[in-house]
Amino acid sequence: MKVLVINAGSSSLKYQLIDMKTETLLAKGHCGRIGIDGYLKHKPLVGEKPCYYENIPLPTHDDALKAVVHMLTSPEYGVIESMSEIAAVGHRVLHGGEAFTSSVLVNDEVMQALERCIPLAPLHNPAQITGIHACTHIMGDIPQVAVFDTGFHQTMPPRAFLYAIPYEYYENDQIRRYGFHGTSYRYVTAAAAEMLGRPLESLKLISCHLGNGSSVAAVEYGKCIDTSMGLTPLPGLPMGTRCGDIDSAVLQFLMKKYGYTIDEMLHILNKKSGMLGLSGVSPDFRDLLHAAEEGDTRCRLALDIFTYQAAKVVGSYVAALNGVDAIIFTAGIGENSPQVRAEILSHFGYLGCCVNEEANAQCYGHDHWTDISGPGSAVKLLVIPTNEELVIARDTRDIVHALRRQKKA
Ligand code: AMP
Repeated sequence: MKVLVINAGSSSLKYQLIDMKTETLLAKGHCGRIGIDGYLKHKPLVGEKPCYYENIPLPTHDDALKAVVHMLTSPEYGVIESMSEIAAVGHRVLHGGEAFTSSVLVNDEVMQALERCIPLAPLHNPAQITGIHACTHIMGDIPQVAVFDTGFHQTMPPRAFLYAIPYEYYENDQIRRYGFHGTSYRYVTAAAAEMLGRPLESLKLISCHLGNGSSVAAVEYGKCIDTSMGLTPLPGLPMGTRCGDIDSAVLQFLMKKYGYTIDEMLHILNKKSGMLGLSGVSPDFRDLLHAAEEGDTRCRLALDIFTYQAAKVVGSYVAALNGVDAIIFTAGIGENSPQVRAEILSHFGYLGCCVNEEANAQCYGHDHWTDISGPGSAVKLLVIPTNEELVIARDTRDIVHALRRQKKA
């Protein structure tokens, strides 16, 4: 069974085609600047086919998906002969609110529920709904599955997900912590259990998803009990351009003083803050690490703030879990920066954490799962490259198989 995984943004559409018999990635790529001018980047990963990268007009997501299907089936760049080889489509959907605790087969009822989740993610969910519609327009009645970033965190208890504001905002408006990066956490926690040779249901895990967006999750016996992002992906750790946790009264101060509208203020907190705002140089950790090494004190400070805040969150989750068996690092920074990992872990000597410095230093830029714990470390320290697309494809396969069994019965 071949599954097409789609991650639609407001002007982009990323895709991967995965053969689920062997879990082999056949091709991946992305359409960008949809509705502006348009380009398509395509990379076949089987056979000797060349890559494709051209500016092509992409007025709508329908046009983008048409171009993707054309690429996947083209004699020159393609990896399949016809669209009929694609058995199902799995969509990444950012926000499922409280309506979705796990992945679902898309139908009219689900589409209505997705529409109702738009106020919770007004920047992301509409694009992902558009992506689903594009598949229906271009691929007909192919089964489609929605996989939610928030789903994994729905096991959090109220004491972790409620904000201390009047309760009616939760009851009437569903204002609460939801958390994100759920598919990534599902992948890395299952992988950690496999690495440790223990059932996931027996482990207390803290997972640090450190990328352009960063969050941490506490996972007890396979279930999320707390996570650092909230109603939106803005709070928690400072990130590339997001501020992370902040005193909400700062907004009022700045809006009054500079006359910002609420949209302008949120734009500053989402796009101009974090590592970019602190350093004045870049949101990219590669640039920050390089500049800090060259003596840039603000880049050094930005990195210090990031690793200090990350350590504080990890420490608070050690308390929430009342112990921890393993700390996992994943995503762009977590997988590739020995220095950031070492700085965060330097706060956990008291727990008996011991880093294998050589293994840590050599762990970057590859796909392996790596144990960077030193001899006798009381907590296992693991670096696990995430694979959200594979989780989406697996859910899609499982749901479609269940549907077929149901139809046969
Ligand atoms: P992601 O959102 O998971 O794609 O991660 C993107 C982030 O990973 C960016 O901030 C990059 O700077 C960071 N990153 C990628 N490679 C490295 C590296 N070798 N060292 C430090 N940070 C990296």
